[in-house]
Amino acid sequence: MSQAGEQGTLFVISAPSGAGKTSLVAEMLKNDAKLGVSISHTTRPMREGEQDGVNYHFVSRDEFEAMIARGDFLEHADVFGNYYGTSQVWVRETLARGEDVILEIDWQGAEQVRRLIPECVSIFIVPPSAEVLRERLTGRGTDAPDVVERRLREATEECSHALEFDYLVVNDDFQVALADLLAIVRSQRLRMQVQQVRHRDLLAGLSGKA
Ligand code: GDP
Ligand code: ADP
Ligand code: 5GP
Repeated sequence: MSQAGEQGTLFVISAPSGAGKTSLVAEMLKNDAKLGVSISHTTRPMREGEQDGVNYHFVSRDEFEAMIARGDFLEHADVFGNYYGTSQVWVRETLARGEDVILEIDWQGAEQVRRLIPECVSIFIVPPSAEVLRERLTGRGTDAPDVVERRLREATEECSHALEFDYLVVNDDFQVALADLLAIVRSQRLRMQVQQVRHRDLLAGLSGKA
């Protein structure tokens, strides 16, 4: 049970397409039961192996635009010619329950979220080199060659925003990158700002203020 007033932490993770963020986030969730990931809405076509409501909520451009008009999104952006957006209600309600939330979003979305929720913790993931990024995107086998080329071109733009993030993780060895990400989450939970709410009664008792 979380103490009244305890807010979850919002982790914003960005990376160029193919850097490994989806695989790393999936492993983070297996390693940490207190972490949840926001399922974005997108207008991009579903890839083989993807499921609606699991990887993304797949919607048409008309539906997405109606959601923008209703103010349903915390942030949204045009990425590689498709819309992507984060549900406002889900994120706010989950954080209010004291649970930690990960957003896997692009740099434009990260910029919007930083403005709205300044206490969020942002992490940028990079591959060890441009060549490795190409190999991973091609090797994943989920995108047509022209889509891969477009994503590689846009990787330079995405990476030019790395310095706007709080943390940088290099995804060379997968297990090392995973441990780095879990360490960031863990250290965040130990911050006094968070701990003083979680352990209010303990601190009050120990300091004679109970
Ligand atoms: P991947 O990066 O290769 O896994 O490709 P995706 O098609 O899953 O994601 C494309 C881009 O959209 C990435 O830069 C994501 O970070 C970004 N993205 C995904 N969901 C969202 C979202 O809800 N909001 C924003 N702003 N960007 C998103
Ligand atoms: P993103 O979500 O950033 O586009 P993915 O998680 O889909 O990236 O990873 C892209 C590809 O690279 C996938 O095929 C994944 O299995 C592979 N991959 C991810 N991290 C590593 C790593 N450290 N070493 C080798 N391959 C990796
Ligand atoms: P993909 O189409 O390969 O699943 O995702 C491509 C990019 O879209 C990724 O870099 C991912 O971070 C970004 N993305 C996914 N969901 C969102 C979202 O909800 N908002 C924003 N801004 N970007 C997103």
